[in-house]
Amino acid sequence: MKQLDCEDVKRNVHEYLHSAMVESEIEVITAHIANCDSCEQHYDIEVVFNQVIQRSCDEAPTEELAERVIRRLREAQDHD
Ligand SMILES: [Zn+2]
Repeated sequence: MKQLDCEDVKRNVHEYLHSAMVESEIEVITAHIANCDSCEQHYDIEVVFNQVIQRSCDEAPTEELAERVIRRLREAQDHD
């Protein structure tokens, strides 16, 4: 899987907030944020996801995706 660095995350986070990304891209970014102290301090993942859900709930059901990604985030954090 493609590795993101912090600059990639910064560039992509706006698309992320607008739900313009496909599921696999969201998961890659989420995985980076979950494992990167620098990004984690900048992007509160739960705030980000609340915004994603609010923006996209008119268009498509995203709760399942959000749930899955948040669970993945928790798993990543548990490994620390
Ligand atoms: Zn980072």
